[in-house]
Amino acid sequence: MRKIDIFDTTLRDGEQSAGINLNTQEKLEIARQLEKYGVSIIEAGFPASSPGDFQAVKQIADTVKNSIVTGLARAIKSDIETSWDALKGGVQPHLHTFIATSPIHMQYKLNKTPEQVIEIAVESVKLARKYFPLVQWSAEDATRSDKDFLVRIMNEVIKAGATTINIPDTVGYATPIEYGALFKYLGENVTGIEKVKLSAHCHDDLGLATANTLAAIENGARQVEGTINGIGERAGNVALEEIAVALHIRNDYYQAESGIVLKETKRTSQLVSKLTGVVIQPNKAVVGKNAFAHESGIHQDGMLKNPETYEIITPELIGDVVTELVLGKHSGRHAFFDRAAQMGFQLSEEKLNAAFVAFKKLADRKKEITDEDLFALLTDQQVNSAEVEVYELEELVIHYENNVPTSTITVKAPSGESVVETCAGSGAVESIFNTLEKLVQGEVRILDYRVSSISKGRDALGEAVINLAYNGVTSSGRNASQDVLKASARAYINAINRQLMTAHYKEQVLVNQ
Ligand SMILES: [Zn+2]
Repeated sequence: MRKIDIFDTTLRDGEQSAGINLNTQEKLEIARQLEKYGVSIIEAGFPASSPGDFQAVKQIADTVKNSIVTGLARAIKSDIETSWDALKGGVQPHLHTFIATSPIHMQYKLNKTPEQVIEIAVESVKLARKYFPLVQWSAEDATRSDKDFLVRIMNEVIKAGATTINIPDTVGYATPIEYGALFKYLGENVTGIEKVKLSAHCHDDLGLATANTLAAIENGARQVEGTINGIGERAGNVALEEIAVALHIRNDYYQAESGIVLKETKRTSQLVSKLTGVVIQPNKAVVGKNAFAHESGIHQDGMLKNPETYEIITPELIGDVVTELVLGKHSGRHAFFDRAAQMGFQLSEEKLNAAFVAFKKLADRKKEITDEDLFALLTDQQVNSAEVEVYELEELVIHYENNVPTSTITVKAPSGESVVETCAGSGAVESIFNTLEKLVQGEVRILDYRVSSISKGRDALGEAVINLAYNGVTSSGRNASQDVLKASARAYINAINRQLMTAHYKEQVLVNQ
């Protein structure tokens, strides 16, 4: 059985997509879950892009032990050296460096001749190997590059010491047969190819990312790169959970295994969705809410007689098991801590105690506390770090006069003092947003706003997710509360706070690899 290494780039290529901005604590939490999920390599970020990214990559490299941790670096000396400082604490330090190889990128973006590009690639790999035992080199926009130029540059970077070569379909242009054929061609024509690991990296612009990735596997790829839930720029990256499940279910065909712990799939998917604020479409393969629902009568009849009539994947396989009514008002500290541990949370005593207080408060108002509620509550505690509380909601009062809603909001400002503002709006939510905009003293545009219920029933927790532009910079915020208006106000403040904290290292360098 061939082993296919899963290279997760949720925290780099995924985090790069519009409106996602995770703080260090949240990135660390995702990395820990990816380690549990069994991914071979975690691309934790782009250390040279900002001090914030550097810190996050460093913390992840120092913490994660069972997955290799890597970071992205341009073919620039300072990028590679900064990455070494971030990654050297890892069990097996790994660097991912790249340069574009397509005519359009070389000419217009790099303004370099093909010969110069080969030289830069070789120099960067040589330099990287001085520090890193493992160096992956990527040919950006490989699928729009000349095949024979790819062979030439690969011959050279292998000689320079690259240990993995990645052939990304950066713009999501390839078709499965073409992409597979490219892997076959490179496998047959590159000198020393047997010494390196070939890797696939697909984007979903034409909806072909999963098909392309599987075609690469059939044609010699030993590593696949992608993200959880397929998040990423534009139409996103390939969804890794789809590849892992496809290799498992069609083991007879692919004869390959990923090493992924499939029963951690649902949890991993939910965590990424919650922390990034990117919702999963209901009909998404493997992890969508409806992926296992059978509505048609004919299907239901067949399912009752033998589930295999219509079900090729079981919810149990991906860890989608619902335990209704786990805890309630009378559940004690012990039962709560036990359940948290069973759900895989490892919180410090201080955070567990804070979570228990939040649980008790919720149990006073809500009869049944489900796993979904606990997941929301515990994740909030886990990623809660003092550093992001810049504005804090103190009080929210809404009243209607002549059918016009007016909000009066008190917040604790970054200066520490309480500030009050009042504003009307054509609806209650608008009046809240108008008031908050005055309070945060900047121009705020709402790009997206959603409220959804976390569990069932009229007393369910409502989760508000907001995507906004604050003085022209986008970010998202979220909050779960029983009162959706309060959740909305807190989500708004959360989005603003994230920006204030990252403002001093917001010098993001854009990379489209
Ligand atoms: Zn990419």
